[in-house]
Amino acid sequence: MTNGYDADVIIIGAGGGGAVVAKELGEKGIKVLVIEAGPWYGNKQWPEPNSSQGAASSSSYDDLSIDLLKASFTDLEDDMNNRVNGKLRWGPANRELPPWQRIGGQVWQNSGVGGSTLHYFGNSPRAIPQAIDNIWPINYNELVPYYERVEAALPVNPAPVTAKEELFYYGARKAGWSNLEGKELSTPGYRTQPNAILRPNPSINDPFFDIQSNRSVGCTLRVIV
Ligand SMILES: Cc1cc2nc3c(=O)[nH]c(=O)nc-3n(C[C@H](O)[C@H](O)[C@H](O)COP(=O)(O)OP(=O)(O)OC[C@H]3O[C@@H](n4cnc5c(N)ncnc54)[C@H](O)[C@@H]3O)c2cc1C
Repeated sequence: MTNGYDADVIIIGAGGGGAVVAKELGEKGIKVLVIEAGPWYGNKQWPEPNSSQGAASSSSYDDLSIDLLKASFTDLEDDMNNRVNGKLRWGPANRELPPWQRIGGQVWQNSGVGGSTLHYFGNSPRAIPQAIDNIWPINYNELVPYYERVEAALPVNPAPVTAKEELFYYGARKAGWSNLEGKELSTPGYRTQPNAILRPNPSINDPFFDIQSNRSVGCTLRVIV
């Protein structure tokens, strides 16, 4: 390339797909340039990604800062999800520019390094074999090693269970289904949802848990430390 960047592959968009492809290619020694229009929260090269231009690129782990990331995000709905100027809006990092519009209808997407995974639920179920076998040119068994690799990397674990899920399990047992341990899906049954969200506050099922004084926040009632 003649613009100062040396790359074998250019990936446009550092979202769920692009970032993973960049990681896989980079680990094979291929030079990858990732171009992302949205903000990079938690990077020292862009301490205020929505209000000042910052650097042109970042390729060092040392640029990453968990403190900066935490300071960028809040638990206030409008701060984060406002479609025009929320931090998770779909559009360029520069908030003087308008959000993007999709012709034909609105899709819930986020922009930035992380893409729509900046705001996702962490649900990580495998597709059932019937959705793959004899439909795709590969079959479920061929996919299993790849599922296992992703499940180890994220990592994927059974989602936390509350009274709502317990009631569902009770119904499933009464209907004659058995609980499926693990992530294997070749036999019918019910199971706890595989999820990649980090562990919630262990007190979530304690009926005497005082949410206010424990300063718990967010969908998993995590504790502010
Ligand atoms: C609220 C929510 C919850 C979700 N929950 C789950 C879940 O639990 N489990 C699950 O599997 N999936 C979930 N998803 C879906 C999942 O997040 C997406 O399927 C996945 O992120 C898509 O990856 P992608 O790379 O295709 O696109 P994205 O992650 O959307 O990334 C695209 C990136 O490209 C950038 N970009 C676009 N155009 C340009 C351009 N011209 N120049 C530079 N950059 C550009 C964007 O800024 C963006 O960062 C959820 C999505 C949302 C919104």
